[in-house]
Amino acid sequence: MEKINCLDLKEQHRSIKKELFEAFEKVYENTAFSGGPFVEEFEKAFATYTGTKYVIGVNNGTSSLHLAMLALGIGSGDEVIVPANTFIATAWGVSHAGATPVFVDCDKDHWEIDPAKIEAKITSKTKAIIGVHLYGMPFDIDAIKNICVKHKLFLVEDAAQAQGARYKGVTVGGFGEMACFSFYPGKNLGACGEAGALSTNNENYFKHLQSLRNHGCNVRYYHDEIGFNMRMGGLEGASLNVKLNYLEGWNNRRREIAKQYYNGIKNSKIKMQQQPAWADSVFHLFVVTCDEKDKFVKYLQDNNVNPAFHYPVPCHLQKAYSHLGYKQGDFPNSEYLAAHCMSLPMYAELSNEQVNYVIETINKF
Ligand SMILES: *Cc1c(COP(=O)(O)O)cnc(C)c1O
Repeated sequence: MEKINCLDLKEQHRSIKKELFEAFEKVYENTAFSGGPFVEEFEKAFATYTGTKYVIGVNNGTSSLHLAMLALGIGSGDEVIVPANTFIATAWGVSHAGATPVFVDCDKDHWEIDPAKIEAKITSKTKAIIGVHLYGMPFDIDAIKNICVKHKLFLVEDAAQAQGARYKGVTVGGFGEMACFSFYPGKNLGACGEAGALSTNNENYFKHLQSLRNHGCNVRYYHDEIGFNMRMGGLEGASLNVKLNYLEGWNNRRREIAKQYYNGIKNSKIKMQQQPAWADSVFHLFVVTCDEKDKFVKYLQDNNVNPAFHYPVPCHLQKAYSHLGYKQGDFPNSEYLAAHCMSLPMYAELSNEQVNYVIETINKF
């Protein structure tokens, strides 16, 4: 068996190359390189897809989190609850706005933010909770919404890994004040370039976010507040228009592969992410843990299965946040996950033969 990587983007891009290049040509002919009609087309289509009223395209997912905080009026002196086990950009959004991320541990079985551990972290400075649909699986939205209502906090979804995932049958993106998406090339829906977006049902946020991403102006060269250049590029928008048509199919193929892993992997040394009844994941990543991680990783690599690691260091132990004073032992579940996790091959173009090979290899460990 040839080496099987955690992710391989080449096949997807080979299969739709003609369509993508035709779309790029249109952008070129219209010189619509920054924002413009192709980005607007995508915003409308993605709003329909997520079942939300408004989508605002931006230059990447990190910007979407940053702008979400600004649109909610969050800044210096404020605190925002963030899971300790997420990609660091969830916390960047809070820090870029001048506020402080306050980390919370995850559940030991489903690895999503643990609602039972949130209330102890709420202070008079807490303004919002950012829940992350980690690895493509929705967090327990109802439980967290209840906490938000009780303590008058904003709920923001970080849906960067979860385009198309469903919570109790409803597509993510409209559960909080707003949701943040990344279209980094490796995400389930990835642009040919860097891109991101916010979705919301609130017209005021929508208008404010449109202005913030565009130098703080609604009328050209009249600037109402200090803004940013965080517009989505036209080529990126055009690539997303093409790829959005394939997303359901790709997500369903990921669900199929995940099912094969869940049914096929029978090795008591390997633990998989538990899927609660509320969750219909899009399996951005298929993460497993193993007590003997180093040995298992070497065994996989020796057998041409190449895992990746999401993520080796939890946010609270990152050097960038050392000034916040967290220490090893603060969040045992996140720390265990970081030290023992690996991501198995997961992308829509994997063949059944490859999936079966991964399963058989794991079962022989
Ligand atoms: C990818 C990702 C982001 C950041 O998106 P970029 O487009 O890379 O800036 C934020 N949060 C999570 C959970 C992510 O996976």
